[in-house]
Amino acid sequence: MIQLYIPLNFLGVIYREIKQSLTDLDKMFVLMEKEREVRDAPDARPLHLRPVQPADATVRFEDVSFAYEPSRPILRHVSFEIPAGKTVAVVGPSGSGKSTLARLMYRFYDVQQGRITIGGQDIRKVTQASVRQAIGIVPQDTVLFNDTVEYNIAYGQPGSTHEEVEAAAKAARIHDFIAATPRGYATPVGERGLKLSGGEKQRVAIARTLLKNPPILIFDEATSALDSANERAIQSELQSAAQNKTTLVIAHRLSTVVDAHEILVLEGGVIVERGTHGGLLAQDGRYAQMWAMQQVEAAPVVL
Ligand code: ADP
Ligand code: MG
Repeated sequence: MIQLYIPLNFLGVIYREIKQSLTDLDKMFVLMEKEREVRDAPDARPLHLRPVQPADATVRFEDVSFAYEPSRPILRHVSFEIPAGKTVAVVGPSGSGKSTLARLMYRFYDVQQGRITIGGQDIRKVTQASVRQAIGIVPQDTVLFNDTVEYNIAYGQPGSTHEEVEAAAKAARIHDFIAATPRGYATPVGERGLKLSGGEKQRVAIARTLLKNPPILIFDEATSALDSANERAIQSELQSAAQNKTTLVIAHRLSTVVDAHEILVLEGGVIVERGTHGGLLAQDGRYAQMWAMQQVEAAPVVL
């Protein structure tokens, strides 16, 4: 009896291991499926934006629901519009789905329900490349190429002159840092080159986006890794870059959203409040609470 029990138990272990690797395989297929999901439709055409000022790059989220894994919905029935040339801000606790909005707009993933349109065109029906051409994104965590600083900035706008690259780097307050390295703009960055801090990488990404100068901008906590002096300086550059651009700002500091056309408060993947800064303060709800809390944090400490 006992002798039988041991091998059976042993088999159980093997069975569990096989089952585990099958689940891993499953996961891999799910990932591959996702890759396929964001492939261009066979009849995809480039996104067409009329060359008017401001560009007719109105962005609309229409009843968008999304999950990375089917069992765990992340965004639920999210609808909003960023009128061409205006700024919409998203605030909310970490994990509420803010970056997911940015990723969907840039079409890293396709929505499972509802749709996202740019200039009236469903972004699933146009080429991914043309969507990404129209959008400049400063993500929360910037990954740089294992190439020179120059390449990493100019990547936003291939064919830029060195002067243009430098002007963008100055606006993003990264020029002095680059100039102080032995090889300047020819310095390789990344694993085999110069290791940049989070804030330095963020400034390279900002320079890249300023240089690209696209009709649509996404700033995902774009200055969160910067010290407050740099943050203030760059904030005004970002604000002037966003003039007449369709802009989605995900903010960690509420002082940067007071002028937004509309502010969305996201919680658990649902928009729980929306309005202008003044309107939301008057509602005296979640936003007003967050605002009051940040005022306290920002107040000078009197000893
Ligand atoms: P926020 O930017 O508001 O902090 P995110 O949009 O990054 O939130 O994430 C929302 C939720 O989605 C979180 O619970 C996060 O763990 C989950 N999530 C983010 N990326 C992935 C992913 N690639 N796969 C599975 N879950 C993810
Ligand atoms: Mg985020």
